[in-house]
Amino acid sequence: MSESATMYDVLLVGAGPAGTACALALRDSGLRVALVDKAQFPRDKICGDAIPSPTLKALARLNPAYATEVLALTAAHRAEVAHSRLVAPAGAEVHISWKAPAFNSPRLHFDDALLQLVRRHTSTEILENWPVQTVEATPAHVALRSSRPELAPLTARLVIGCDGANSVVGRQLVPWPLDRRRHCAAVRVYYTGVQHAPETTSDFYFLRRHLAGYCWVFPVGNGVYNVGFGMLSSDIARDQVDLKQVLRQLLSEHPGLAPRFREARPLGKIQGFGLPLGGSARPLTGPRALLCGDAAALIDPMQGHGIDKAVQSGMLAAEHAKRCFQQNNFSPAALHLYTDEVQRRIGRPLRQRYRLMRLLAVRPWLVDALLLLARVPWLERAFVKAIG
Ligand SMILES: Cc1cc2nc3c(=O)[nH]c(=O)nc-3n(C[C@H](O)[C@H](O)[C@H](O)COP(=O)(O)OP(=O)(O)OC[C@H]3O[C@@H](n4cnc5c(N)ncnc54)[C@H](O)[C@@H]3O)c2cc1C
Repeated sequence: MSESATMYDVLLVGAGPAGTACALALRDSGLRVALVDKAQFPRDKICGDAIPSPTLKALARLNPAYATEVLALTAAHRAEVAHSRLVAPAGAEVHISWKAPAFNSPRLHFDDALLQLVRRHTSTEILENWPVQTVEATPAHVALRSSRPELAPLTARLVIGCDGANSVVGRQLVPWPLDRRRHCAAVRVYYTGVQHAPETTSDFYFLRRHLAGYCWVFPVGNGVYNVGFGMLSSDIARDQVDLKQVLRQLLSEHPGLAPRFREARPLGKIQGFGLPLGGSARPLTGPRALLCGDAAALIDPMQGHGIDKAVQSGMLAAEHAKRCFQQNNFSPAALHLYTDEVQRRIGRPLRQRYRLMRLLAVRPWLVDALLLLARVPWLERAFVKAIG
């Protein structure tokens, strides 16, 4: 290791939901922690901006004040969502009311709120504009080097990769081949002036042609809507799908969408990003390394939600890190217990949801039938439980 390297106990790479939750959960650990991100916050993250209800519940378990403060910090940039409108491939609509409170908030603001909690409540050193280029592990340490040569390397006894879908930590310390059947790609763009769009309802459109995916219109507050479309990467490759083109076409031609977007105005360009789906056997640990959130491929294959899983896995990684330091044991066997825990708590249900998604993906008639059945009140409750 370089003599000039700054030494920490734990280096968290990535200050999204996984990295910030992990930093909050390490608060009273007594460990010297740095949270490193290539971006300067507030920063955008291409996303649907739907914050699943388990996200705040998980933060509140750490400290009830965290949930209250996130709500206060995002108050001006939020839409409370009580309902969803699901539009079947054949056009039938079903309206679902959610039991648990959820909200949508642009990641520009939501992720910044999480980082503000870290600043307020922890002694974590936050290093922004710190793009990690290489991650190197020895038996005793791990070292990060930046693509900005003027930045001195950082070393630690443990690195936690929270650096998202294209994780550098994952690629270099826990490599795993890309399986396009367990990966989605999606595009999104913000719009204003969308018609028939109550600020409390998120819309999902399922399409006969692209079933393993959906188009969404989510209110994010202040009359702005997050509009997007995503589908399985294996289907994109097989059918040579241009996602941006499909989204443009849907907004101008789909019988349910076109009238709503006639007067609407985009607020920027359509942008895309990857979604590594959960339910695979991806290893989550490597030499002196744990992975969380998208770096660990934990996105719900049914809904495309990953923010809640990022927070939950970040908290599990923090607990595991504390144990490793208490026992001074960073052996592969000790680290592997983290994989077992994540698989048990998060991975197993995601595996079932992956199988359900594959089943529905080739049976449009089943999606039509399920959405029709969901109109029956007592079946709606079962439906909400199954997909929520
Ligand atoms: C189009 C789209 C729509 C989605 N919609 C939803 C939704 O509505 N609801 C939902 O719950 N989930 C949604 N997801 C998934 C969700 O965005 C992710 O699951 C979530 O952001 C994962 O959080 P994370 O902390 O693991 O990673 P991220 O949020 O990706 O954070 C990773 C952080 O690491 C930093 N980083 C990356 N590389 C480096 C590097 N080399 N050096 C230093 N820092 C680095 C990045 O700057 C970033 O801040 C969507 C995803 C996409 C692509």
